Amino acid sequence: MRKYSAFAIAREAFRGHKGWEQQWRSPEPKAEYDVVIIGAGGHGLATAYYLAAEHGITNVAVVEKGWLGGGNTGRNTTIIRSNYLYDESAGIYDHAVKLWENLSQELNYNVMFSPRGVMMLAHNIHDVQVFQRHIHANRLNGVDNEWLTPEQAKEYCPPLNISKDARYPVLGAALQRRGGTARHDAVAWGYARAASARGVDIIQNCEVTGVRRAAAGHVEGVETTRGFMRAKKIGVVAAGHSSVIMQMADVRMPLESYPLQALVSEPIKPVVPCVVMSNTVHAYISQSDKGELVIGAGTDQYTSYSQTGGLHILQHTLDAICEMFPIFTRMKMLRSWGGVVDVTPDRSPILSKTPVQGLYVNCGWGTGGFKATPGSGHVFAHTIARDEPHKINAGFTLERFRTGRLIDEAAAAAVAH
Ligand SMILES: Cc1cc2nc3c(=O)[nH]c(=O)nc-3n(C[C@H](O)[C@H](O)[C@H](O)COP(=O)(O)OP(=O)(O)OC[C@H]3O[C@@H](n4cnc5c(N)ncnc54)[C@H](O)[C@@H]3O)c2cc1C
Repeated sequence: MRKYSAFAIAREAFRGHKGWEQQWRSPEPKAEYDVVIIGAGGHGLATAYYLAAEHGITNVAVVEKGWLGGGNTGRNTTIIRSNYLYDESAGIYDHAVKLWENLSQELNYNVMFSPRGVMMLAHNIHDVQVFQRHIHANRLNGVDNEWLTPEQAKEYCPPLNISKDARYPVLGAALQRRGGTARHDAVAWGYARAASARGVDIIQNCEVTGVRRAAAGHVEGVETTRGFMRAKKIGVVAAGHSSVIMQMADVRMPLESYPLQALVSEPIKPVVPCVVMSNTVHAYISQSDKGELVIGAGTDQYTSYSQTGGLHILQHTLDAICEMFPIFTRMKMLRSWGGVVDVTPDRSPILSKTPVQGLYVNCGWGTGGFKATPGSGHVFAHTIARDEPHKINAGFTLERFRTGRLIDEAAAAAVAH
């Protein structure tokens, strides 16, 4: 793999940019792999990369029914933070933030990680108490999070409305300065390029239609629209379709799949310097490097595999944005879209072995898995390679829904982005 550098750009400028290689190979599927990963989103590609880079397992295929990064990885609003309440959650999300901080260097690919700060607004006494509890818990876990007065919040984000006459006045905010955003497509592309260079086969336009199991129960391989691929181990990393694939292996998952929408405005000059989230008015906002306001909220109320979603959700979201930022009232919205997110009863993910030998699952990230991409891939690769969890994902088992040992972020945070 040719290294990307300022020198390489200068060299190619002198020879008409004819020397750039394809970023990843597009090989024909082989008959047999050590590991097949189902789903070429950020989590699946990161898993394949760390299997090759850290565990020396390179006979790996990542099988994708569409194009790589075309699922939720390419549809999300890119918020990154790690100020979750429970020890397990803070552990895995902060592991990810630490990897984000050096990811562009590690992959030799600019993922545009931008730690511009994530500010979560408190609008009532309950919010104030919950966020201050989070701040104390986070500090005990070595995760940065600090309390701001309304005036300090406005200083950090000048267009914010802190008028006491607002329907939901800002009473303060929790700020994680190490949080921020990254370029979602670049994350998928960077992992794909680095994994492919280490020998991983990325097979796009190849839908998994079945999981074949031996009479003894263990996995034998995957049926796909491009033929059968034998595999010693299978990792399911298919976001909103995880339960569909696990059903193919006769494993019933505690998941519901919902549409989640986002939208962007026309581009304007830089005006929102950080990420602002509000659980109470139920909307969040940041500004992309192109200048578009990137806006989202919670899931639609009904389960569905539709990637569109209902208009009233967007209308409610924009009402909330105008409440927080009256200066955006006259802005035009450019595009909206949806993705399908899989949600667990406790709103925490599952990264785990399964009752089927050789079958592993990484799912249930709901509305907030983009931020975890590097950490999730890192510990899931460990789980697959060693057939046992990394200590960071040890609590994120499938069995917790049987034993009751939940990681109940659902109760701790109404919005999980
Ligand atoms: C609108 C929206 C906003 C969001 N905002 C944020 C945010 O701000 N911050 C945050 O942290 N998270 C956010 N998320 C959540 C985040 O996008 C996801 O948790 C994360 O991207 C999941 O990554 P993944 O790699 O697991 O899934 P995906 O990127 O969805 O990858 C799964 C892949 O599996 C493939 N697949 C499915 N079935 C099959 C099959 N049968 N055969 C082969 N391939 C298959 C799909 O095509 C897909 O490409 C948001 C999500 C949405 C939809």
